Amino acid sequence: MSVTLPALPYSEDALSPHISANTLSFHYGKHHQAYVDNLNKMIHGTAHDDASLEDIIQASAGKAEMAGIFNNAAQIWNHTFYWHSMSPNGGGGPNGKVAELINRDLGSYDDFKTAFAGAGATQFGSGWAWLVSNKGKLEVRKTPNAETPLTEKGVTPLLTMDVWEHAYYLDFQNKRPVYISSFLDNLVNWDFANKNLANA
Ligand code: MN
Repeated sequence: MSVTLPALPYSEDALSPHISANTLSFHYGKHHQAYVDNLNKMIHGTAHDDASLEDIIQASAGKAEMAGIFNNAAQIWNHTFYWHSMSPNGGGGPNGKVAELINRDLGSYDDFKTAFAGAGATQFGSGWAWLVSNKGKLEVRKTPNAETPLTEKGVTPLLTMDVWEHAYYLDFQNKRPVYISSFLDNLVNWDFANKNLANA
């Protein structure tokens, strides 16, 4: 058994002009695929060969001798979560229960935007910005490299945004804040966040 690359939830040109088909072709077809290929090579013939991706992430988190396995496994999970965190019909203010909890826990949608954009912009080097539910309370987080809130007990990821340079460089070059604004205004998928919250 091996880990497989999940299908994109839309076509490679579906997020254009906000994220180009060229970016998605490299980001999904090359980067995400490479994490899958690397992990399969690393777990081949080991006790992790038959484990689920989630189990591999939990088993390798925080273990220096398993850093390679963790980095590739977590990046597979983070990227699949990121594709679903965007929609061709996304962007703008939240709806449903997430909208209610953003106002309750973060102040307002504008406060959320400031916090989330700030998390993405201030993540030095590579990493991720997140909206999570921490034991029922919404929080904005950032993580470096492949780190994921999935490994934290009581924390459910609701949304993520990739801020590795490969996520935006072809479309925005060095202008990470412009990519972040575009993600929030045109792509963020609140239906996905509500679905994750309902399953928390
Ligand atoms: Mn990426």
